[in-house]
Amino acid sequence: MKTADCIKFLGTAGARFVVLKQVRSSAGTFLSINGRGIILDPGPGTLVRCAASRPKIEGKDIDAIVLSHNHIDHSTDVNVMIELMADGGFTKRGALFATQEALSGEDPVVLKYVRQFVERIEILKADTEYAVGELRFRTHGRHRHPTETYGFTFSSQEGPVSFIVDTTFFPKLCEWYAGSAVLVLNMVRMTPHPNEKVMHLCYEDARTLISSIRPRLAVITHVGMTVIKAKPWEVARTLSDETGVQVLAASDGKTVELGERETDGQQADLFAER
Ligand SMILES: [Zn+2]
Repeated sequence: MKTADCIKFLGTAGARFVVLKQVRSSAGTFLSINGRGIILDPGPGTLVRCAASRPKIEGKDIDAIVLSHNHIDHSTDVNVMIELMADGGFTKRGALFATQEALSGEDPVVLKYVRQFVERIEILKADTEYAVGELRFRTHGRHRHPTETYGFTFSSQEGPVSFIVDTTFFPKLCEWYAGSAVLVLNMVRMTPHPNEKVMHLCYEDARTLISSIRPRLAVITHVGMTVIKAKPWEVARTLSDETGVQVLAASDGKTVELGERETDGQQADLFAER
């Protein structure tokens, strides 16, 4: 029997107009690790992309929904995805992990009547470990973003798999995510935004993080128009050349396999793309 841990990028849109015009899909990311399914940041279109996926991602495939923060492009589909996970609300099922701000801040994004469909709701805090069955993950410190935001490191058979979600760059990120085998970066822009209230990673920040952390694989996603114009696959190649680390650009529907293992312990190629 084979078990394959993978990351499926349902959507890769990162900035306002890429999302609003759906230049790229703003659906979230599906992780399948240690036999558990997680939806990370279900932005607009996540339900549609799950239904259109081949194979289809159904409610029974999802054990937890994780919201890194409450911004619209990360959370719009959270309610409908909870309903999907909980068999239309008929079976109390699954877990929701969300920040205090997303649950009870000024702009809570999870409807109250939907909250009763999940088995448990856990509030994300800094530097805390969480589990979904055998799948373990942790937060680090709070990211620098206009709302309460955390990134994640998931434990997998292939090593730590980290998501540096929305944030501006600050040197502590290199420490927090050190040791990641796979590093997914929300690289929204090619150059820093002139307005410092727009708090996102740019190309130079991604290069600094990849050079310092040196994962076995880095993936850029959540891209805005400046990255799309620069052709993300070419940007990834330049990042690879500059850092000596394998870097891929995520695209809508792309699956990155984290390694495929036979139960006898033999291992096939790591990081196959499909
Ligand atoms: Zn955001």
